[in-house]
Amino acid sequence: MFTVNLIDLDRSGPIQFHRFVPMDHALWEGADLELSGPVEVDLLVSATATGQVLADGRLRAPISRRCRRCLEPVELVLDEALSLVWEIKDELEEEDDGEIRPLDPVGNQLDMQAAIREELILLAPAYVVCGAECRGLCPICGIDRNKQECDCTHDEPDPRWNALRDLGHE
Ligand SMILES: [Zn+2]
Ligand SMILES: [Zn+2]
Repeated sequence: MFTVNLIDLDRSGPIQFHRFVPMDHALWEGADLELSGPVEVDLLVSATATGQVLADGRLRAPISRRCRRCLEPVELVLDEALSLVWEIKDELEEEDDGEIRPLDPVGNQLDMQAAIREELILLAPAYVVCGAECRGLCPICGIDRNKQECDCTHDEPDPRWNALRDLGHE
């Protein structure tokens, strides 16, 4: 689905990839992403004179999470720029520069799937709130304080507590 023929790339120039990857595609298996629709990947793949392969574009993914405070479902759409780089690496001087992925010099095919999966997992927010004003669940009786009042406390909840609680989560 995201395989680039490096010989074609050299010969005919940049290649455009525009794909919708279904939410139940094997690529996302075990990724714990809670997708609610297909992932749109739009990439322009090109080769540089110095032997790097670049893939630039966007990634768009509808994700369904639960609010960390009140547990209500929150739908969000991740829409992020993607910029991937591959380069043939000399094993003797392998540096950990993170951003650059090793390009397998044996094959003529570059499979971008694993890199795309990795990026989506990195970009997906680990924690989500339905809104900055969300009052969350009452820690004593458990009611959703966005919808009801309870008698557990008469103090006005201080929004700073929510911020502190959120920090404690991750
Ligand atoms: Zn909430
Ligand atoms: Zn309560």
